Parts: sequence; structure tokens; C-alpha cells
Amino acid sequence: MDLGIRDKNALVCAASKGLGRGCAEALAEAGVNLTICARTEKDIVDTANEIRSKYKVRVESVACDITTSEGREAALKTSGPVDILINNAGGPPPGQFRDWTRDDWIKAVDANMLTAIELIKSTVDEMISRKFGRIINITSAAVKSPISILGLSNGARMGLTGFCAGIARDTVRDGVTINGLLPGPFETDRLLGNLKVRADAAGVSEEEMYKTAAEENPAGRFGNSEEFGKTCAFLCSAHAGFINGQNILMDGGAFRSSL
Ligand code: NAP
Repeated sequence: MDLGIRDKNALVCAASKGLGRGCAEALAEAGVNLTICARTEKDIVDTANEIRSKYKVRVESVACDITTSEGREAALKTSGPVDILINNAGGPPPGQFRDWTRDDWIKAVDANMLTAIELIKSTVDEMISRKFGRIINITSAAVKSPISILGLSNGARMGLTGFCAGIARDTVRDGVTINGLLPGPFETDRLLGNLKVRADAAGVSEEEMYKTAAEENPAGRFGNSEEFGKTCAFLCSAHAGFINGQNILMDGGAFRSSL
């Protein structure tokens, strides 16, 4: 299917690997020109080179921390006018709420709520003036089904979700949709790192923990970045202009509900 977004410009945040990279690759496959960022210069340059040579689109890379105002400025300066914005950043660490200080909360809210809001603020009016825009916030299944030890993530991402639920109803009349994409367990470095911690704590091998955790999901496996990216690209497509203000859960059906 032609997604109808060839030659559009996308800014994909936190995209040297994992879910962000999956989104960047699927958009590139659809003919979208990219600006991608991550903090580690070598990784983001290598990823940009690989995507550019595979899909023959323009790919700019920016080594920056997107959760800082300098980082956002650098990314936006490189990208120029943005038609498609994929908001993504690392998640806050797990822990116990009694240990979290005000500073821990400010960091989480800065990274997983205000960073996305600032980027939306910087790009949405241009999208509105061109009568086309797609904004996807990569959040988490924990927004729908919160996990106690991920309280910093639950709180900050829910703030972003609530904010976007409001403004999405204002922007869609001008062709700009805003949606959340909520990953359950996807096989990325982040997930494998978490499994290692769980394996060490339980005194089992990493392979055993991998198998057990995959079996916990109705699909009997983890998701992969490619299927996440292609779903993201469809939501960014010309065909998805009537999907707006939604939070789309990709978790293999782990969250049990009829609707
Ligand atoms: P990942 O495989 O660890 O990849 C994270 C990517 O983000 C890397 O490219 C990393 O590169 C970049 N990054 C991290 N912090 C950044 C920052 N401050 N500024 C710019 N780039 C940054 O992680 P992932 O699994 O794809 O997760 C992506 C997001 O989805 C996270 O917020 C995570 O909490 C959320 N999530 C993931 C899952 C899952 O199962 N994978 C489930 C629920 C939610 P550098 O380190 O070089 O910056």
C-alpha cells in the first residue's frame, strides 16, 4: 500500500535503535525524509547511514539529548519544517514511590511529558498552516494498565496523554492528527536489560527468564520494532486522517478487556 506520505519530512526522536528506529525505518520505506536523534553520536550516525543507503531518502542525524531545550533546538534546526513528529525518549527508572524525590518527578515529567509538549508546540502551527500533520507519542501500555514500580512513567506519560486528548480535537480540523502508540513488551535492548535484572533477582538464567516472560503474553512472544514501526507509519499515512485522539495499545492482547 502506498502510504501517501512520500517526500514529507519527519522528526523521529530517540531513534538510533529500538522502537524509535522501527518507526524511522518504516517511514523511510514510505519515502519520508527523516531527521533522527539520539544521544550517542556514533550510533545515530551509523543508523542514519544505514537507513539512507537502504531506502534512498534524505536522513539527517543529530546527536542530542531531546529532553533538554538545547537538544530540541538542535533537532528542530536540522529538521526544518516538520510534517510528522514522533515523540520518544528513554523511560524513567523503576522504583518505589516512597523513595522518589521532587527532583526525580521533575526529571520524569520533563523527559516524558514536557519534552513532547514542547516539540508539539514548536511544530503544530506550521502543520496546521500546511493542512497536514501527524503527531505520534510513543508512551507505554502502562498508561492503560499501570505498573506500581513504574510510577514515574505512569504519572508523566498520563499527563502527556491527557494534554494531547484535549488539543487533538482542535488540530484535526486542519488535517493534524495526534495519537498515542502504547507499547507492551517489545524486544529491544531496554526490554532485554530489564529481563536480565529480573533473571538475576530470581536466580535463573537469562534464557529461562526470556522464555517465561514471552510465555506470559497471549501471543507467546514479544513484539518487534518492525511491526511497531509499520503501525506507526500507517498512523502517519494519508489514509489515517480520521484516526485522532486515540491511544493504540500494541501488547499482543495482554490487557484484558472486551472493548
Ligand atoms: P531502547 O531500545 O533502549 O532505545 C532507546 C533509544 O532512545 C535509543 O536510540 C537511545 O539512544 C535513545 N534515547 C534515549 N534517551 C534519549 C534522550 N534523552 N534523547 C535522545 N535520545 C534518547 O528503548 P525502547 O525499548 O525502544 O523504548 C523506547 C520508549 O518506549 C521508552 O520510553 C520506553 O520506556 C518505552 N517503552 C518500551 C517498551 C518495550 O517493551 N520496549 C514498553 C513500554 C514502553 P541513546 O541512548 O544513544 O540516546
